[in-house]
Amino acid sequence: MTAPLLKVSGLEAFYGAAQILFSVEFELAPGEVVALMGRNGAGKTTTLESIMGLVDRRSGSVDFRGREIIGLRPYEIARLGLGFVPEDRRIFTDLTVLENLEVGRRDPTSATQEAWTPDRLFTLFPNLAEARNRSAGRMSGGEQQMLTIARTLMGNPVAILLDEPSEGIAPIIVDQMIDMIAELKNSGVAILVSEQNLPFAATVADRAYVLDHGQIKYSGAIASLLDDEEIRRSYLEL
Ligand code: ATP
Repeated sequence: MTAPLLKVSGLEAFYGAAQILFSVEFELAPGEVVALMGRNGAGKTTTLESIMGLVDRRSGSVDFRGREIIGLRPYEIARLGLGFVPEDRRIFTDLTVLENLEVGRRDPTSATQEAWTPDRLFTLFPNLAEARNRSAGRMSGGEQQMLTIARTLMGNPVAILLDEPSEGIAPIIVDQMIDMIAELKNSGVAILVSEQNLPFAATVADRAYVLDHGQIKYSGAIASLLDDEEIRRSYLEL
């Protein structure tokens, strides 16, 4: 088996005095798409933010590309090749689509990586190509989400953490998101995607972990999760 790109062990996270994550463990292999699932408040966003160093306090181990990143600052982690796409689209509304992409440009961290350019991204996101000279603030929420992902890719990450990409987005954009994730996987980018939507996760991911009250309750193939009614009822369905 290939060594994991990202290996999280014994991860605990705190907001003030409140402990949110309890001994969370999981792995992401190079080029793999893994879904991190769970209901609202289960701790999905906190897990992604803990990996990036964006919570008040965290402990345990997060190994990325063979390096311990638990003590590093968010920008240092991003520079090592880990991209983070938050759920709330953080784009520059006064800049054009193209300018937003340029803001995210960073050299690849590995010699074998083909660098992302706006033109290469426009083949992946046709809507953005059409809107390239438009002000980003005038795009729909779903298009802004696509732009946030595209801008993260301009940093040439080897892995991205994608927080609930299908949340609150029109079905047609969700379909484009599914195609985009498949294309990204083909290009070798590993993806950890946080999701509540099982059909979406089952379409894009190879494996899944299910979180509940800050603890991992299931790990395995997505297909087995689809078959496991008890896990679904206990930890996923509303
Ligand atoms: P959602 O789909 O609602 O984002 P989630 O699985 O991503 O759900 P988290 O956002 O990680 O869940 O929240 C996990 C727990 O941490 C919740 O109980 C939430 O209230 C708490 N929490 C999240 N952010 C903060 C914060 N900044 N300060 C205090 N508590 C927080």
